[in-house]
Amino acid sequence: MSTILVTGGAGYIGSHTVLALQKAGYSVVILDNLVYGHQDLVEKVLQVELVKGDVGDRALLDQIFAKYNIQAVIHFAAYAYVGESVSHPGKYYRNNLVNTLTLLEAMLQAGVKNIVFSSTCATYGVPQQIPIPENHPQNPINPYGATKLMVERLLSDFDQAYDLRSVRFRYFNAAGADPQGRLGEDHDPETHLIPLIFLTALGRRDHISIFGTDYDTPDGTCIRDYIHVSDLAQAHVQGLDYLIKGGKTEIFNLGNGSGFSVQEVIDAAKTVTGRPIKVVQENRRPGDPPVLVGSADKAREILAWKPDYSKLEIILEHAWHWHQRRHNE
Ligand code: UDP
Repeated sequence: MSTILVTGGAGYIGSHTVLALQKAGYSVVILDNLVYGHQDLVEKVLQVELVKGDVGDRALLDQIFAKYNIQAVIHFAAYAYVGESVSHPGKYYRNNLVNTLTLLEAMLQAGVKNIVFSSTCATYGVPQQIPIPENHPQNPINPYGATKLMVERLLSDFDQAYDLRSVRFRYFNAAGADPQGRLGEDHDPETHLIPLIFLTALGRRDHISIFGTDYDTPDGTCIRDYIHVSDLAQAHVQGLDYLIKGGKTEIFNLGNGSGFSVQEVIDAAKTVTGRPIKVVQENRRPGDPPVLVGSADKAREILAWKPDYSKLEIILEHAWHWHQRRHNE
């Protein structure tokens, strides 16, 4: 039986994608070093083989490719804290870029030539056009975005040289949780807006900070395109199917094409939770573009991908249920 290797499959988007792969009938093996991934969720919910280790461990990769009949790789494993990437760039270039090179070389040696790669809207930098199309110039403004852009370049060069075909997804803001409540977002440290709002509603944090109220947007706060994690997961299954059927290398944005401000998200979360949420206005966070909204028309056309949970209220409801369960409410 052929198997899909999912690196970072114990993380937020990776774990939801493993659920979607299982639903689609794929067999999965996860490679995750568990620095940020959750072993309990893999064991209790996903119940698939978990290899603990680094993507940069070539001997381990060779063992995995020898042991399993790997048909394709979905590569999530990466560090993804923008602020940390600014203060510790070497850590990001090593893990996100150098280790990915090791993975690609191991794939080539094993004759595995299909990869779905997690890229990001952070590769665009400050947008010149909204919604952002895939052919928008890429000028990342932080090392995290730069590492992802460099891997995109690596993938293009490996396609040219070795016929290694890739689907690269540039995510906008992943949010929400499995609609059945089995999985959700659980970062440590948590820096993302929606989980922090809910941790505040649960009384685990005193307040939610709004980073910047003086942006050139209708209410002065940053606008983002929030996309349900299960819709992202489904896109990965469709991207994988596309590659397995012989599709050529492609790049797709994954977003909903509509933006919500930080203030709008907080207001909607107050409605969803029915609880007071204390808000404190703070200075801008360095490296935040005022507006990031993507056009996913290409994924809709070529992959026939269609988000099932595009409404912000639904995304928030699913995330809220998850946080309540995770924190035993
Ligand atoms: N944000 C905020 N307060 C927080 C965390 C985030 O105001 O405590 C803002 C952040 O400045 C950005 C938006 O919320 O405009 C989404 O940030 P997040 O960290 O969730 O995702 P990012 O856009 O950085 O990928």
